[in-house]
Amino acid sequence: MSTTVDNYRRIRAEIPLHVQLLAVSKNHSIEKILELYETGVRDFGENKVQELLEKASKLPSDIRWHLIGHLQRNKVKPLIQSVYLIHSLDSVRLFHEILKEARRLEIKISALIQVQISSEDTKFGMPFSEVIPFLTEVFPLAQGYISIQGLMGMASNVSDKGIVEAEFKRLNSLFHEIKLIPQFSHISLLSMGMSQDWPLAVQEGSTCVRVGSDIFGLRG
Ligand SMILES: *Cc1c(COP(=O)(O)O)cnc(C)c1O
Repeated sequence: MSTTVDNYRRIRAEIPLHVQLLAVSKNHSIEKILELYETGVRDFGENKVQELLEKASKLPSDIRWHLIGHLQRNKVKPLIQSVYLIHSLDSVRLFHEILKEARRLEIKISALIQVQISSEDTKFGMPFSEVIPFLTEVFPLAQGYISIQGLMGMASNVSDKGIVEAEFKRLNSLFHEIKLIPQFSHISLLSMGMSQDWPLAVQEGSTCVRVGSDIFGLRG
């Protein structure tokens, strides 16, 4: 059996059934994706629009592509009909751009709000304090064209587990706060955790871990 399939199965067996294991295939080949596809895996994550579109054009059409990286507004149009879930809705301006394209095509787009939980300024995300005002005051404009499924966050890239744990806890508490708002009681996805911190993320309530190098190895 291939190491990719082995790795996927090992991690799958270690996380609870209700937690989704999203295979992050960025920088990895079509062949490696197919190895997993052939065992029944259908959800793959990419962080660049161009790479996602190239792979989508060469791979089976029943793959569900997740965009996990920052989405520039000028890339919304090429992406929108190929993506299953956008994990990185991180600004009001991006929201309006997605809304414009969804309206034009008469389609519904599913997204997670990416929340800034790390103090490292390299990480994108909507500031924590703006999420609920966005959902209650701006989001109603979506009128069914955008469906918010939950939240996504990236913890700080630090060895201090206490810091990472606190960031995950904070995102989980925001997630539960939002579920108390009647229009958002259905949200079910809390996308947090990657190769370096997925066990901690699962412990802190993640329902979707995005794992790349632990499945595919370090590079292409
Ligand atoms: C690359 C990436 C991951 C996966 O990272 P690994 O360390 O390879 O598991 C998860 N989330 C995002 C947003 C990424 O860009």
